Amino acid sequence: MQFWNKEAETLKKQKLRELQLERLKKTLRRVYQKVPHYRAKFQQAKVKPDDIKYLEDVNKLPFTTKEDLYVDYPFGLVTLPIEKLIRLHTSSGTTGKPKAIFFSKKDINNSAELIARCLVMTGAKQGDILQNSMTYGLFTGAFVMHYGAEKVGILVIPAGPGNTERQINLMRDFGTTMIHITPSYALYVASVIYDKGIDPRRDLKLKRAYLGAEPYSEETRKKIEDMLGIDIYNCYGLTEMNGPGVGFECKYKAGLHIWEDNFLMEVINPDTGEPVKEGEIGELVLTTLNREAMPLIRYRTRDLTRIIPQPCKCGRTHRRISRILGRSDDMFIVKGVNIFPQQIEQVLMSIKGVAQNYQIVLESYDEMTVKVEIDRELFDGKIERLIKMKEEIIDKIRSATMVKPKVELLEPGTLPISEGKAKRVIDNRTI
Ligand code: ADP
Ligand code: ZN
Repeated sequence: MQFWNKEAETLKKQKLRELQLERLKKTLRRVYQKVPHYRAKFQQAKVKPDDIKYLEDVNKLPFTTKEDLYVDYPFGLVTLPIEKLIRLHTSSGTTGKPKAIFFSKKDINNSAELIARCLVMTGAKQGDILQNSMTYGLFTGAFVMHYGAEKVGILVIPAGPGNTERQINLMRDFGTTMIHITPSYALYVASVIYDKGIDPRRDLKLKRAYLGAEPYSEETRKKIEDMLGIDIYNCYGLTEMNGPGVGFECKYKAGLHIWEDNFLMEVINPDTGEPVKEGEIGELVLTTLNREAMPLIRYRTRDLTRIIPQPCKCGRTHRRISRILGRSDDMFIVKGVNIFPQQIEQVLMSIKGVAQNYQIVLESYDEMTVKVEIDRELFDGKIERLIKMKEEIIDKIRSATMVKPKVELLEPGTLPISEGKAKRVIDNRTI
């Protein structure tokens, strides 16, 4: 089976746009009627739902930002009475209040439906066994994937993250064929598999992994694919938009399809709010087109990407976005230069001898220190090898970012291990 819902996934461009407009209008009427905060924002922008006659008119509407989610918290943007809500998820919210997102029965069903499309698009089918190593709980990552996989008829192992030894035992004992996991934890699990002398190609049945919840580079994908002998598919989502399954790669792994019958996407210049030219990088803005309990209008994700306008070889008509470059929040500035952690990761993962873990430490605005774990045997060899390696890392980071870093080479196991989203940047700057 190549498609979960062939009709919806291959809808002709024109039909897809008509459906988007119809759903957009319906969503706008709904929030205008039911959500005082939206009504007030629309009135302030002097726009009414009926003013939206074409999809292009969307830019007459005000944006919704993370701050809007805190207005009349927690039910402020909900369009249904409480007895029609069946699930709450929140974002991690390490500081202050988490962002709270509510789902109706229809929303839960629909989020599973979209994941089913995603999984089948990568070749998954009944008979597959999915080890779901994302966190079960308030975070959307595990639950949404779980329900979607069950919908396809896939056997799900609700492993959750952590306890790496047990993860590997589960894979071995139950013949896991696919795993859903963060890239940083996947790197660690892969290294433990090797340390234990397990040959993944011989001893495990793993063939695919779904990696998401944090940015990672093509180099990291390649590294884990080579280590484990599997195919890795990029999976993008955010709590505010159901969680995983908003964007997902197909077999061709050349960008992530966005389900445009469910999400209206725009890419804007984050400073001006104006649309960028087609194919240019900017901030992804999403409007839910098929959500009941808590529709969001022109939601600013703060994720940077670009639309890939060309059609995909897989036949799906829903456009793709490129790998997320990072969140505008993740960017840091050293010596006046904007840097994303992913630029550093990309360099490190392309260097032979670099192991699985790294950290960027900022003590001042003029300097960054990159701490990087390297293969243990390099410490047993000649000191010249270490010096050469350090120089290579410094040079390559300098040419990728324009900033010459300080580099510390560490033995594997020195840096903290992350089981969920990794904290790559330690910013100790106080002003
Ligand atoms: P929080 O906002 O608390 O981290 P979420 O789980 O909602 O909680 O995080 C969603 C964010 O995670 C996205 O906005 C994006 O920045 C990041 N993210 C998720 N999946 C990917 C991915 N495949 N590639 C890059 N970034 C991702
Ligand atoms: Zn495709």
